[in-house]
Amino acid sequence: MSKTKDTSAASHPIPSYLNPDHIGPWGIYLQQVDRVTPYLGPLARWVETLKRPKRILVVDVPIELDDGTIAHYEGYRVQHNLSRGPGKGGVRFHQDVTLSEVMALSAWMSIKNAAVNVPYGGAKGGVRVDPRTLSRAELERLTRRYTSEIGMMIGPSKDIPAPDVNTNGQIMAWMMDTYSMNVGATSTGVVTGKPVDLGGSLGRIEATGRGVFTVGMEAAKLSGLNIQGAKLAVQGFGNVGGTAAKLFADAGALVVAVQDHTGSIHNAKGLDVNALLEHVAAKGGVGGFGGAQSIDNADFWGVNCDILIPAALEGQITKDNAGKIKAKLVIEGANGPTTPEADDILNDKGVLVLPDVIANAGGVTVSYFEWVQDFSSFFWTEDEINARLVRIMQEAFAGVWAVAQEHKVTLRTATFIVACKRILHAREMRGLYP
Ligand code: NAD
Repeated sequence: MSKTKDTSAASHPIPSYLNPDHIGPWGIYLQQVDRVTPYLGPLARWVETLKRPKRILVVDVPIELDDGTIAHYEGYRVQHNLSRGPGKGGVRFHQDVTLSEVMALSAWMSIKNAAVNVPYGGAKGGVRVDPRTLSRAELERLTRRYTSEIGMMIGPSKDIPAPDVNTNGQIMAWMMDTYSMNVGATSTGVVTGKPVDLGGSLGRIEATGRGVFTVGMEAAKLSGLNIQGAKLAVQGFGNVGGTAAKLFADAGALVVAVQDHTGSIHNAKGLDVNALLEHVAAKGGVGGFGGAQSIDNADFWGVNCDILIPAALEGQITKDNAGKIKAKLVIEGANGPTTPEADDILNDKGVLVLPDVIANAGGVTVSYFEWVQDFSSFFWTEDEINARLVRIMQEAFAGVWAVAQEHKVTLRTATFIVACKRILHAREMRGLYP
């Protein structure tokens, strides 16, 4: 067996981006990899591959603002690992985007794509900008310039971006158009999450919430939790949280509490989810909804419930509120909603946590369907898409559950074991070139 030379940050005088001491999203990811390394068997020889992004591009994105000044924004595209296929992962427009964050998000995409066994590596992109400060024309110029700047890295068989925080179908349409203009041919498969009229897929918008619901139902079955009458609390009532809440309510659960950026509401007898969806569509948030009492945001976490779905932001379940949580099942709709300390607290309390890297993988799964449909320019019905999504999510979850039972580890660690083994096995079979 060959030896690995120690080129880690610790052996260098100048800390590099690989330095695990600089905790942050990338540091958390490195800890997660360390946690699963003992379970990787002979593949552990390749584990360093997972601790180094394959390729990072940092770009300057200059645009002319409407008032004539020139503004410069920092943009990134990171391809974390391409062993299993082209890169896949969203593009985030946010003023707090950092390289560490984009690196970690790209790595979590490698894990997520391998966990549901879609033939992709992991990638992510971002621009350090508050898009609310831009006019629509400025946002379009920013999107097009960023797309041109990262054009050397993306492509339908290289790396396929998608929407993430503050990016949407319109931005994907501009990205697709810009890339197509640059290569001289319409290339719908370069991004996913496009509008349906431009090669987008039916079922994509609800896909993440549907995946959350699917794995939640599987976990409930395996852990003996009856969904009929089960009490559900949801943080975030947008695309993911709203869809998941509706599907659980349709299956007989009672949605007893919801929190969003406008406040927290509670009704122990169950909220009328359809009426709440209409209220949110009209008013922009759950605040002021008639069929419930308003509660303090801090009290939301202690509400009496069986299932909790964080589907809003990162870092919401912390060491300060994890102890209050009464749910038996936590389904992570958001990316990274639970801090590592909170994860340990929940685990010690016997709470079953369905981790983001499997629970919210429904979105990327239907993105994969979109890409496949774009290649053949042949589009499937929504029923076909939903049926294929459910099958993939159920199979993936069953595999992760079995590994968790076998090694007596959390579902998060089990998902990482399954995913890291798939990635490193692909790496080993491909070998190193030259
Ligand atoms: P969204 O914008 O549709 O909804 C976000 C929700 O979070 C809204 O209800 C908003 O009110 C709420 N929120 C915002 N700030 C809050 C705060 N401070 N406290 C409580 N609630 C707050 O977004 P979405 O698409 O539903 O995404 C939600 C999460 O799921 C994000 O973490 C996202 O990264 C993750 N995710 C989404 C997808 C997808 O396909 N949409 C896929 C994977 C992961």
